[in-house]
Amino acid sequence: MDPARRGSRGPLPAGDHKDIIIPLVDCLFCRIVRREIPAQIVHEDEQALVFKDITPQAPTHLLVVPKRHLGSLSASTDGDIALLGHLQRVACRLAEGAALSSFRLVMNNGKGAGQSVDHLHYHLLAGRPMAWPPG
Ligand code: 5GP
Ligand code: ZN
Repeated sequence: MDPARRGSRGPLPAGDHKDIIIPLVDCLFCRIVRREIPAQIVHEDEQALVFKDITPQAPTHLLVVPKRHLGSLSASTDGDIALLGHLQRVACRLAEGAALSSFRLVMNNGKGAGQSVDHLHYHLLAGRPMAWPPG
């Protein structure tokens, strides 16, 4: 196809899909997904990556992230419902696999709620008593 049209949002003619350019997002967790930054990865599938938090707040502290960049829960749409459900089920299966009968699944949304990395993620925390309300 005409390279000048590559950036257009029009439908791609059949056969041109090899020309799709996926923009590289300069985001910490996207870089972990692309293996540009090392992480202790414990699970990977088509849609999700799970790795150990670098500053664990509990004996088990995993980050469950979508491979596709999504800035926050607020940035999600109804089109992401299946993805969000998948991330929760992945967390649940990992907890089951580690015989964790109690765990906390937390998502901080927005700076005021403690979100410091702008790539949607669940924290899977377990292995110590959890207080409520959270700080
Ligand atoms: P948030 O504060 O956005 O809810 O959570 C971000 C989490 O990412 C924090 O718990 C923080 O410790 C973790 N984190 C920040 N940088 C890195 C990193 O380079 N590698 C890993 N594995 N975790 C990170
Ligand atoms: Zn990202």
